[in-house]
Amino acid sequence: MSDGGSGTVRSLRFRGPGVVEPVTSVPAGLGAEDVRIAPSAVGVCGTDAHIVAGSFPAEVGVVLGHEVCGRVIERGSTVGDLPGAPEVGDLVTVEPHRYCTACRYCRAGQEHLCAGKRGYGVRLDGGMTDQMVVPARIAYRLPERTVPWVGAMCEPVSCAIHGMDRLRVVSGEALLIYGCGPAGAILVALARLLGANPVVVMEPNPARRDLAHSMGADLTFDAADPDADAEARAVTGGDGFAAVIDAVGSASVLERAVSMAARGGRVLEFGVAAPDDTAAVRPHELFSRELTLLGSVINPYTHQRAVSVLPRLGLERLTPAFFELSEFENALRGQREGVADKVFVAPRGVDVARGVTR
Ligand SMILES: [Zn+2]
Ligand SMILES: [Zn+2]
Repeated sequence: MSDGGSGTVRSLRFRGPGVVEPVTSVPAGLGAEDVRIAPSAVGVCGTDAHIVAGSFPAEVGVVLGHEVCGRVIERGSTVGDLPGAPEVGDLVTVEPHRYCTACRYCRAGQEHLCAGKRGYGVRLDGGMTDQMVVPARIAYRLPERTVPWVGAMCEPVSCAIHGMDRLRVVSGEALLIYGCGPAGAILVALARLLGANPVVVMEPNPARRDLAHSMGADLTFDAADPDADAEARAVTGGDGFAAVIDAVGSASVLERAVSMAARGGRVLEFGVAAPDDTAAVRPHELFSRELTLLGSVINPYTHQRAVSVLPRLGLERLTPAFFELSEFENALRGQREGVADKVFVAPRGVDVARGVTR
């Protein structure tokens, strides 16, 4: 059964710093283990902006887009052998990585640390296109009722789950999150589910503080207010927070995060900082307060959990904005200027991305 693989395919290809070109081509070939997906909603995130700016290494010529939700329109000949294989017509989310499978990390169950990993939308052709071909094993079925733009957020959700796993948040602990963009909003929702209390957010943008509240933050503070850290610390009786997350990705935020951790506290670097951004951390402080500094990168073995937890997160509370493939410049500008909580490319139109039509 197939209604795909024909006609012409429009794609957004990265041609080098500052250049994204809409191109038309014939459909890519479909291997026996592949599925062909018609993307319904593709998230635009900071990584895409960094790629286009030339500050995140990516393959010249690659089709952009790594936060993908779409419908399967064709299956390779052996896909049906996979347990739970997606059927033609199924809504799926893509776990957008390919690992070498042979390095010491891959063989130790740490595929996300593989030096040879390649990301779809970064080094392999991604989802900002009419048709995306991926191995069926990285296409995860979503419940039919899933709104496609919400389904596309499985990718950032899977990264947030890994971050929370690293941080080991347990119920009743005080948690502080710096930054409430889309990733911060997901972290707030996860923190609520895990039972952190209080969940406190530090964010300079008033609209994003409102978003933090709507996602379940107990308290928010204006990160630009010089008294904000002292006021937030007072909430914990002066002890500081058992767990602190930098969801901004900044040396100055990491320094504040370390200072806000309670004795025995853990600090998670979750945001993507500039490679040469350098924070000052006093070894004596790590020693005497017995602090733990953690990093978190991508989503090892958490994409299925993202699919499972998605209905509990209430991400429908985010305000989305949608752009056609041909409007990518506007989508990038919208992402940069914060026209909505989250920006999406909608290759099949806004109604499909919203789930109004299939
Ligand atoms: Zn992303
Ligand atoms: Zn590897």
